[in-house]
Amino acid sequence: MSGRQKKILIRIVLAAVLTVAAALLPVKGWLRLAVYLVPYVVVGWDVLWRAGRNILRGQIFDEQFLMAIATIGAFFTAEYAEAVMVMLFYQTGELFQSIAVGRSRKSIAALMEIRPDSATVLRDGEERVVAPEEVAPGEIILVRPGEKVPLDGRILEGQTTVNTAALTGESLPRDCGAGDPVISGSVNLTGVIRVKTEKSFGESTVSKILELVENSAAKKARAERFITRFARYYTPCVVIGALFLAVLPPIFDGNWREWIHRALIFLVVSCPCALVISVPLSFFGGIGGASRHGILIKGASYLESFAKVKTVVFDKTGTLTRGVFTVSAVYPEGMEDGALLELAAFAESYSGHPVAASILRAYGKEPDRSRVASTREIAGMGVIATVDGKEIAAGNRKMMEKAGVAVPENTDPGTTVHIAVDSRYAGRIVIEDEIKIDAAESIRRLKAMGVTQTVMLTGDREEAGRSVGEKVGIDQIYAQLLPDQKVAALEKLLEQKPAGSNLAFVGDGINDAPVLTRADVGVAMGALGSDAAIEAADVVLMDDQLSKIVDAIRIARKTMRIVRQNIVFALAVKGVVLALSAFGLTGMWIAVFADVGVMVLAILNAMRALRL
Ligand code: ADP
Ligand code: MG
Repeated sequence: MSGRQKKILIRIVLAAVLTVAAALLPVKGWLRLAVYLVPYVVVGWDVLWRAGRNILRGQIFDEQFLMAIATIGAFFTAEYAEAVMVMLFYQTGELFQSIAVGRSRKSIAALMEIRPDSATVLRDGEERVVAPEEVAPGEIILVRPGEKVPLDGRILEGQTTVNTAALTGESLPRDCGAGDPVISGSVNLTGVIRVKTEKSFGESTVSKILELVENSAAKKARAERFITRFARYYTPCVVIGALFLAVLPPIFDGNWREWIHRALIFLVVSCPCALVISVPLSFFGGIGGASRHGILIKGASYLESFAKVKTVVFDKTGTLTRGVFTVSAVYPEGMEDGALLELAAFAESYSGHPVAASILRAYGKEPDRSRVASTREIAGMGVIATVDGKEIAAGNRKMMEKAGVAVPENTDPGTTVHIAVDSRYAGRIVIEDEIKIDAAESIRRLKAMGVTQTVMLTGDREEAGRSVGEKVGIDQIYAQLLPDQKVAALEKLLEQKPAGSNLAFVGDGINDAPVLTRADVGVAMGALGSDAAIEAADVVLMDDQLSKIVDAIRIARKTMRIVRQNIVFALAVKGVVLALSAFGLTGMWIAVFADVGVMVLAILNAMRALRL
């Protein structure tokens, strides 16, 4: 509990004791009013103060206003105890609410713990502890066991295990040593490492994630906007209704006191706080709960659209497959195996594509970049580079067609990288990818959850796409697509999706960022370290397990169910109590009790979303 919450609690307890004392005191008339005024002011002065201030600012129809009017009205109709009880319940509800909000904030803030406080940088042979913002890319930092890695970089020296649990939700620590990349926000567990930083703090993964989480609250879901709009019209309507209730019936029966009292009860009950609070809190909880699984959802509106996904479209490389190719065969035409691999490695040395990474790994050495004069990447095809003054083209069949090189027929399994030197065919390298272990199972579970369409879009060859798609159980396969053709294919799928449902695209952000943006919900996976993907996507999966999609949909649906339950429950209870109060069948403090009760239950329900 914060200091402010403690103070309110003390005031509530004190006022409760004073109210009991007031009830026991045998005083009458003005004195009785005075002894009840004391606890009333103790517990409610800030509500009165804020109500007054808001009236001066022209915001009348808020809950403070409702409470102030109702309780002051109760004093005028000599219902002293009732007035105090109303304030007591109201403040108790507020306290509860602030604790609940604090709780769910904290669970998101657990993510904030990935934020490193300092970095130990080596400058002129000396260790210096500075703020992470002050470290430039290319500097060398020292990370000891137990410390957080402050910036993204690569290990120069040392051997250790790192824990990325806070980032990915994956609790299995990973071994890494010299040459391996490390990501800011992960925790260094066992060894001292020297890391050469590759990005500034602002560009590092940890900053990107924090930014994303902080902004997620701003994107309101439709349900949430509905509630705000609802409250704006609802409250004035209720106030006018109460006014009629206070004035019209007594014209006929002359019982002013009774009808004013009923009108005041009506006012108290009308407060829509249970809805106004619990709906955003449920979304907040859902986002927080998802983040604990390493699923970052950029806003409440995406939770809402995710819940309605019936079509899931996958990218192949890096999404359904691991994207870690191994070279399975090299077919050079008139040169050595090694020479062809070297040419390919040089040509690919500046590419960030998984194909390039695999060829470089197979080459096994650091390519001598001084021999590479220029490179150009053609998305969905391959690269063209100038190596030792010769023009090297490396890529798929489309790449060769574009370069005007004839390609001999082949029946290679897997993905083929053709290589041409100065427009003459030089051979091909066959690489094979592995299907992710949880791919088939995840597709099966998606279908069991009511996802009716599963689709694969790939830039790879028809055969390679089909072989993967059939193994994992994808319904439709579209192959040999360039990035813009992927967008066109997605547009068509968007037209065909079942009415009222949504389409999610799952990709790795390489050659598919435009598709990520175009889909109803764009999901980037294995996005650690890929800024483009983090930026383009609506939902970011911190690791590359496909089963996270299943989790994300499940969490989104449960959150929406909680939101709906709260809306229906609160409106139903409100309706009943409003009707009862209009007919004089309920006292004011019972009305408040009902109101606070609904709010507490709605909040408790909302908090469930945190644990999904
Ligand atoms: P996917 O849709 O399967 O993720 P991409 O659209 O990224 O694939 O790429 C499509 C195809 O283009 C790859 O299968 C590969 O044949 C070729 N390609 C793309 N980039 C490169 C590269 N840097 N080197 C060689 N081939 C490449
Ligand atoms: Mg891809």
